[in-house]
Amino acid sequence: MPLATIGFDADDTLWQNETFFQITQARFAEFLADFADPAHLADRLHRAEARNLAHYGFGIKGFTLSMIETAIEVTEGRVPARVLKQILDAGREMHAHPIELLPGARETIAALAPRHRILLVTKGDLLDQERKLAQSGLGPLFHAVEIVSDKTPAVYARIFGQHAPAPDAAMMVGNSLKSDVLPALAAGGWATYVPHALTWAYEHAEEPEGAPRYARIAALADLPALVGAI
Ligand SMILES: [Mg+2]
Repeated sequence: MPLATIGFDADDTLWQNETFFQITQARFAEFLADFADPAHLADRLHRAEARNLAHYGFGIKGFTLSMIETAIEVTEGRVPARVLKQILDAGREMHAHPIELLPGARETIAALAPRHRILLVTKGDLLDQERKLAQSGLGPLFHAVEIVSDKTPAVYARIFGQHAPAPDAAMMVGNSLKSDVLPALAAGGWATYVPHALTWAYEHAEEPEGAPRYARIAALADLPALVGAI
């Protein structure tokens, strides 16, 4: 079955994302420097985020709420309102940050778009992802955009079923083994891993072994050659 459809992850595949979370987390540690050491705070924040995913989903809003929850916890309820305001402001600044495309993003999609159905498949806050897509200027290159609450095998099966003649005629490309690679393979599709130097701890997973539809490339610019060889 020739490859008909290629889905791209957005955050840290087409544009920078995790770096802004890490910058904000460093500021969060400064806000609470009088109450907790950075390593302890990072651990508590990570636990709060993992706990809250089922309630808030992925994105800046959930991250901001988790920072506030962590601030209340580590100060045993004594966090000053001034610090809560600093956290809220930091979250809002993340929503206003201009998009930074990753190298090769536009060129790679433009090279593949004439002969493939190109999808954007991303999770996170709907409004924020729509803002970033609009700012990226890549919108016209996509045949369809799927902003989903989570990336599970069932979600990929639905997307592949809708946008490809068969699951093995579709490929997902992204920087997360956990969200872009493993569930897309489980849904019967191809998956290409493009590692990013910064990846959120939650997205870590083991690389698949012996999976014939799996590939790893060093940069997005390597994708057209890989697709051409399938
Ligand atoms: Mg990503």
